[in-house]
Amino acid sequence: MNIKMVDLKSQYEKIREEINYEIQNVLDSTAFINGPKVWEFAKNLSKYLGGTNVIPCANGTDALQIALMALGLEPGDEVILPVHTYVATAEVIALLRLEPVFIDVHPDYFTIDINQIEEKITSKTKAIVPVHLYGQCADMESLMKIASKYNLYVIEDTAQAIGAKYTFSDGKTVRAGTIGNIGTTSFFPSKNLGCYGDGGAIFISDDDLAKKCKMIANHGQSKKYHHDIIGCNSRLDSLQAAILDVKLKYLDEYSLARQKAADIYNDLLRNIDKIRIPQAANYTDHVYHQYTIVLDKTVNRDDLQNFLKEKGIPTMIYYPVPLYKQKAYIKDNGETFEITEKLSKSVLSLPIHTEITKEEQEFIVFSIKDFLFGL
Ligand SMILES: *Cc1c(COP(=O)(O)O)cnc(C)c1O
Repeated sequence: MNIKMVDLKSQYEKIREEINYEIQNVLDSTAFINGPKVWEFAKNLSKYLGGTNVIPCANGTDALQIALMALGLEPGDEVILPVHTYVATAEVIALLRLEPVFIDVHPDYFTIDINQIEEKITSKTKAIVPVHLYGQCADMESLMKIASKYNLYVIEDTAQAIGAKYTFSDGKTVRAGTIGNIGTTSFFPSKNLGCYGDGGAIFISDDDLAKKCKMIANHGQSKKYHHDIIGCNSRLDSLQAAILDVKLKYLDEYSLARQKAADIYNDLLRNIDKIRIPQAANYTDHVYHQYTIVLDKTVNRDDLQNFLKEKGIPTMIYYPVPLYKQKAYIKDNGETFEITEKLSKSVLSLPIHTEITKEEQEFIVFSIKDFLFGL
């Protein structure tokens, strides 16, 4: 068995002809930057998301940065985000000389803990950036209520949850990233909708704000060589757009494959009391960008990881060092985050992707049991 964390090769093999055809078309057109494919893909993704504006850009980190730039925040303004996330979420806030304000995560869902947000809001707070971590949405309905009470912008970091559906208490269902003022995503190869290089996009329902994001992503210009605002150079190239346009057609199928794989893991792991399987909140479906278990504190995670590695089973830790302890983001205020701290020591992400087989999963779980109980 050749088990991979993510199997992009087998996925590509299945759509090889379509992909190669589209790539060849772009090569023949030589419209590499801002070609028609980019806007065709944007239009199709917009349709998929329910009609919101889609502005493609160079990567998911830039998408967050452009979103924050478009909101016209001032240096020193505070932006609230979960502390259990990928560094990019905090990085762009700090880069723009805004102040990242960390919040711990929900003990079951690992997304921002809604009950801890209000106590961190000050007169300088301008925005909240919830992260739909591992593939499920944060509690957006509650979060939007807080945002509206304090007049705050909301930017949803949807890098790990594109395609996930969120259901409001009135039964209305929408796609992740279309609830806040702005949604952002990444098309990094291993993400649920991944290209073959770097890519990202911004989702915005407000047309004026969408125009502003589009300008910012292209040197702040609305017309060539006329720069109205300070921007950056952040474009999705046509080759990546062509690849994404093919893969978008399969996104729901891919999500389903991940959900089926998660169901199999759930069934196999449910009764092991040293392991907690992922919990899905009732307001969101889960597209399992990661299948992340939590180990009991009696389990030595390093030993388990090494044991599995020797059997050819890769695993990952998202994330081993909490952001508030990272040198670049450390604050001298003695703040600690209990759940994030615990997760950093006990989470383990198992291989999950669109091509994983039941046999592979059974072998992975057999091996975990072998480690825990010495079968
Ligand atoms: C991957 C990721 C990003 C950054 O995306 P890039 O395309 O790698 O820049 C941002 N936030 C989260 C939560 C991510 O997982």
